[in-house]
Amino acid sequence: MPSSPHSRSIDLHTHSSVSDGTETPTQLIRSALAAGLDTVALTDHDSTAGWEEARSAASGTGLMVIPGMELSTRVQFASVHVLGYLFDPANAALIAETARIRSGRLHRAERIVQRLSADFELTWDDVLAQSTEGATIGRPHIADALVARGHAPNRSAAFASMLHWKSGYYEPHYAPSPLAGIRMITEAGGVAVLAHPGTGGQRAVVPEAELRELIAAGLAGLEIGHRENTEAGKAVLRRYAETYHLIVTGSSDYHADGKPNRLGENTTAPDQLERILARASGSEPFAG
Ligand code: AMP
Ligand code: ZN
Ligand code: FE
Ligand code: FE
Repeated sequence: MPSSPHSRSIDLHTHSSVSDGTETPTQLIRSALAAGLDTVALTDHDSTAGWEEARSAASGTGLMVIPGMELSTRVQFASVHVLGYLFDPANAALIAETARIRSGRLHRAERIVQRLSADFELTWDDVLAQSTEGATIGRPHIADALVARGHAPNRSAAFASMLHWKSGYYEPHYAPSPLAGIRMITEAGGVAVLAHPGTGGQRAVVPEAELRELIAAGLAGLEIGHRENTEAGKAVLRRYAETYHLIVTGSSDYHADGKPNRLGENTTAPDQLERILARASGSEPFAG
C-alpha cells in the first residue's frame, strides 16, 4: 500500500541501466519528472556510474537528485541491501569494495548461465546483449536473456522459476557483511539506510541486538515504506525506529520495465530527508 501522500514527492530508491533498471539515468530522470516527483535518489546496485549522467539530465529541471547506491551485503546465504546516500564517490575503500562485488557478481552470473545452458538454449552473449557496458550484472540480466530466448514470459516469471534460489541453478555472490558495508558508507561521509528490511515478516526482521550493532556501526535509517515489507514487518520496524530514533524512508525501488514498482508509490516525508541531508558529509545533492 502506498504511504500517505506528502506535500513534496520524495522517492529515495531507484535503479537505472547502470545496474538492473531498464531505463538509462537520463530516461529515469525524465520518468521522475513525468511522475511528478520533486526529489529522486539514484541508487544503482554497487555502482555510482550513473551519478554524472543523472546530474546532467536533471540540470535546469527543478528536480533534486540525491546521489546514492544500494550496496549488496550478505549474512550467510541471505542477501541484505544497504542504501547509501551522499557518500564521497572517490572514497578508496568503497571503490575497491564495490569493484570486488561487481566482479564477484559477474563471475557468479557466468556460472549460473553455464548451469542453465545445460537445460536451456542460452549463452553468455545473450546476457551481455541485455546489459550495458560496465553495468552491475545480476539475475535480472539473465532473466531478460531467458525472456528474449522465449524461455520465460517476463523477468518476474524467470525469478519465480529458473532464477529462484531453490532452482538448482542459483548461487550467491561475494558481498561484505552488513556491518562492514554500513561502516564503509558512513566512513565515506554517507548515510546508511537498511533497504526493505521487513520482507520476510515479523520474525525475519533483524533481531534487536544485531540492529544495535548496526546502529553502532553508523546505521541511520530504515526503509519502512516499500512494497515488499509485510505489515507485520513494518510494525516491528516502526517500533525500532521510535526506540532508536532512526530515520524512516519510503521508496519505490523502481526498475522501470524490470519490476512492477512505480515511481512515487511510496514516498519519504520531507523532515526525514532533511535528517539525511543534515547527516551527510560526503557529497552534495544535485539541485536541478
Ligand atoms: P541478484 O542481486 O543478482 O541476486 O538479483 C536480485 C535483484 O534483482 C534484486 O535487487 C531485485 O531488485 C532485482 N530484480 C529486478 N527485477 C526483478 C523482478 N522482476 N523480480 C525479482 N527481482 C528483480
Ligand atoms: Zn535491483
Ligand atoms: Fe534491494
Ligand atoms: Fe533496489
